[in-house]
Amino acid sequence: MTCQGKQAEKALEALMHTFTALMQEDKEVKTVQKEEAFYEGGFIEGDIISDGIAVAPAYRYKETMVQKDSGLTFQEAVNKSLDELETLYTSQQRNSDSGIYLAQKELLSSLQTKTHTFQDFKMLIEQSFSELSGTKLEAKISDYKDLLQRVEKHLGLEIEAHFPDKPFILLADDLLPSQIEQLTRTPVAGVILKETSVNSHVAILLRGAGIPSLIADTSLLTEETNIIVDAYSGMVVISPTQADLGKAQNRLEKDARQKALASEKRFDSAQTKKGKRIKVLANVTDVNSARNSKEEGAQGIGLLRTEFLFKEEKPSFAMQVKAYEKIFAHFDDITVRTLDVGGDKALPYIRLPKENNPFLGIRGIRLFQSHPEIMEEQLHAIFTAAKSKPLKVMFPMVSSVAEFQEAKAFAKATAKKYQVDISQIHFGIMVEVPSVLFSLDAFNEVVDFYSIGTNDLGQYLFAIERTHPTLKVDETSSVLFDAIDTIIKKAVKPVSICGELASNKQAIPKLLALGIETLSVSPKSIAQTKEEIRNV
Ligand code: PEP
Ligand code: MG
Repeated sequence: MTCQGKQAEKALEALMHTFTALMQEDKEVKTVQKEEAFYEGGFIEGDIISDGIAVAPAYRYKETMVQKDSGLTFQEAVNKSLDELETLYTSQQRNSDSGIYLAQKELLSSLQTKTHTFQDFKMLIEQSFSELSGTKLEAKISDYKDLLQRVEKHLGLEIEAHFPDKPFILLADDLLPSQIEQLTRTPVAGVILKETSVNSHVAILLRGAGIPSLIADTSLLTEETNIIVDAYSGMVVISPTQADLGKAQNRLEKDARQKALASEKRFDSAQTKKGKRIKVLANVTDVNSARNSKEEGAQGIGLLRTEFLFKEEKPSFAMQVKAYEKIFAHFDDITVRTLDVGGDKALPYIRLPKENNPFLGIRGIRLFQSHPEIMEEQLHAIFTAAKSKPLKVMFPMVSSVAEFQEAKAFAKATAKKYQVDISQIHFGIMVEVPSVLFSLDAFNEVVDFYSIGTNDLGQYLFAIERTHPTLKVDETSSVLFDAIDTIIKKAVKPVSICGELASNKQAIPKLLALGIETLSVSPKSIAQTKEEIRNV
């Protein structure tokens, strides 16, 4: 990107923010491995967006355009859309997909500065379609379409999508991110899209909603016929036999039983068949997700990603204390991570220098050097809210013992400055930079605990950026497990895992075999993770 003119630098910076926010949501894309399956009837194959199984009549997407008089000008319609996206973002904070609305809001704000009439706006959006088409960012076209539709709605032109009131499998070329919310309020059993990608926002939302979904060519499918979407094997059975339907129905019932069983036992401890107890903690981001994780059966918080409390505006000291107090009230076992900004996580008011490789730049613990005042305020707020709770404070992105010691000394100095007693607070590190693996003897002398961040550890071990649109770290690689093995063998302080691998069905038995006793997972994975442990 190049910008020219008086405010070129500012414009470039704003664009970088927009792109960072747009790319952010792609980071937790999981590659679903296909299972073997055999069906007697004809089938087509597709890519898995969200696993599961569905049996229902096919229904092709239908919409009508309705023209109403909204009485709003173009600018008013854009402002209303911005407000709406802000509300969607803040009201869905406990949902990890809420950032999509923030990304769309940033995109709309930047489009607003370039256009003054609806015609210009529409032209700019249509121009973006052709520019993005065929590129790695093609999946973002639906975000542009969504914005156009949102503004049109406020100008009085509304698209009304129609869905059946009995279970159905939706066939569509693509959907808009905003339509998934509407879809979750229908009896939809499965979705087959023709033109999206597994990285698109629509795909992320479908996964979040737990709707079995595939990408496949829907042109061969006939409406109203009963079909099977097997989003475990990536197959759509277009002419299922009675035996096929029976098989799918059995799997459906087995899934439902497993889910209900896991949910029923979510408050029970997780014990392996040999009787070893494993602690299952939650990765939380805010007050709502802390409450939610308690309800899902978490035994504590293994990772509080505090950067999500900070959002677009920096919360005041008082607001931070209040938020931490509310979160800490839910559990006794709590690990708070200090701000992990940088890399793919941007905050508008933390200005970081333009870096060629932000993932290798100012991130995590390095903020103690670049933004000491923000770190001091955060630590002061955490210590104040902790009162006498034996809290664990964890530093992210630590690469050397000196870095840890400086941050810990800074924390102690902060406590002294504000006269807070922190004798009950433990200090530890995320193990996510490979250099730590080679300095564990020295770390053992100074840290109180370790938590392995497999998302970043994988990224840095394989030199594959975690947000990369086409390259993916192979989570099943023995290298990752060997790294974890090394950490467990060398560490003389407690070790837990808080990366995505902790809730990976195939990984859990291996992690337990290596000696891991604490897993920290997203709130919605708690019940299932406990159940996987019980099967080991
Ligand atoms: C990790 O890197 O594995 C981790 C848990 O932290 P985050 O995903 O927030 O970087
Ligand atoms: Mg990390």
